[in-house]
Amino acid sequence: MSRFLSVIPVADAVKAVERIAPAPQAETVPIDASAGRVLAEDIRSDTDIPGFDRSVVDGYAVRSADTTGAGDSIPALLRCVGRIAMGNLDSSLVIGNGECAYIPTGGILPQGADAAVMVEYTEVAGDTILIRKAASHGENIIRKDEDFRSGERVFSTGRRLTPQDAGVLAACGCADVTVAKKPVVGIISTGNELVPANVVPGPGQVRDANAPMLAAWLLEYGCLPRRYGIVKDEREAFEAVITRAVAECDVVLLSGGSSKDDRDMTASVIASQGEVLVHGIALAPGKPTIIGTVGSTPVFGLPGHPASAFVVLIAIVRPLLDRMLGQSEPLVRTVRATLSENIPSQRGREEYVRVKVKDGIATPLFGKSGLLNTLVRSQGLIRIPAGFEGLEKGSTVDVILW
Ligand code: AMP
Ligand code: MG
Repeated sequence: MSRFLSVIPVADAVKAVERIAPAPQAETVPIDASAGRVLAEDIRSDTDIPGFDRSVVDGYAVRSADTTGAGDSIPALLRCVGRIAMGNLDSSLVIGNGECAYIPTGGILPQGADAAVMVEYTEVAGDTILIRKAASHGENIIRKDEDFRSGERVFSTGRRLTPQDAGVLAACGCADVTVAKKPVVGIISTGNELVPANVVPGPGQVRDANAPMLAAWLLEYGCLPRRYGIVKDEREAFEAVITRAVAECDVVLLSGGSSKDDRDMTASVIASQGEVLVHGIALAPGKPTIIGTVGSTPVFGLPGHPASAFVVLIAIVRPLLDRMLGQSEPLVRTVRATLSENIPSQRGREEYVRVKVKDGIATPLFGKSGLLNTLVRSQGLIRIPAGFEGLEKGSTVDVILW
């Protein structure tokens, strides 16, 4: 076996990932708990929204033609023939020529009326209402079905729901929705030098930063992270933990030991229990990455350096999760910025550079991938495609925000 990684392009690695992605599973949740979940069904409204023409102001329902030319000096004089009560239809109330009726915000527009005048532009004089502003046809009215029509598709499968969506779902008659189940993602940190966050590192030891970072990101992305602790670079320990994680999870992420050093066991353990599909990606940082399967469970070997592990999570693991969630669009927020300086890049590999963004200017933070600080002093990443030899100062870039 070669001692060097044979790298493949990022796009090919992503294709490999999409091929092994388990199909989305569905479950039903109450809409109050639906924000952040990915819809597994199309949503149609069971009624017109609103179900009737309604006023958007407190004021008077009028026939707009009766208010033509009305103003401060010459108000229109209309006879008030009733009051509209909220949540109630009085079908006997009809607005005839020269008539109006008091209407509260959201009240049903009575027959005959076609507009509403804000109460601020009116004055009561006994049964007569002085209208000091002309209303045009439809003014201050939301038409029946103006928001959504009955039967109209309001949301499509694959949409990541927002809190606002929960309000619309309720209006459409959905108290519960079918969404993708949260993938259970196992997280294993490997390395003799690692200790957990609550232990003071001894000489040569470092705290495990990857597992909490991966777990926190996965939780935010709508997955259920499951921690399997720190595993020493010992074959039996490795095998035991992978066996357990694969049985209990939909996806397993290992970090560390993903390269080809003698101590690097991830690839050979995955190969002995399943299949290694990819070992090495033309990606920087993130070259020593493994994509494999054990049974039907995707298993990733991420590089040990936290910054590299994070880039691989974003560039390679996320497409798998998007498939598993049935998500139509990746959840990526970007912002356009102007590059403050040249960034050289090696042709043939895709590079991700951490950048600070302020006032539309993106400033690269050229840190070694072994450093943690650039991960938190930056606002996001810019991607330099494999075919580029760099990006020039002054060019416009899309920053993938954290
Ligand atoms: P490896 O990929 O195992 O050769 O590790 C590469 C570098 O990443 C080494 O300096 C490790 O100490 C470091 N490293 C590996 N795993 C972690 C982790 N979970 N948290 C922080 N650093 C790590
Ligand atoms: Mg290691």
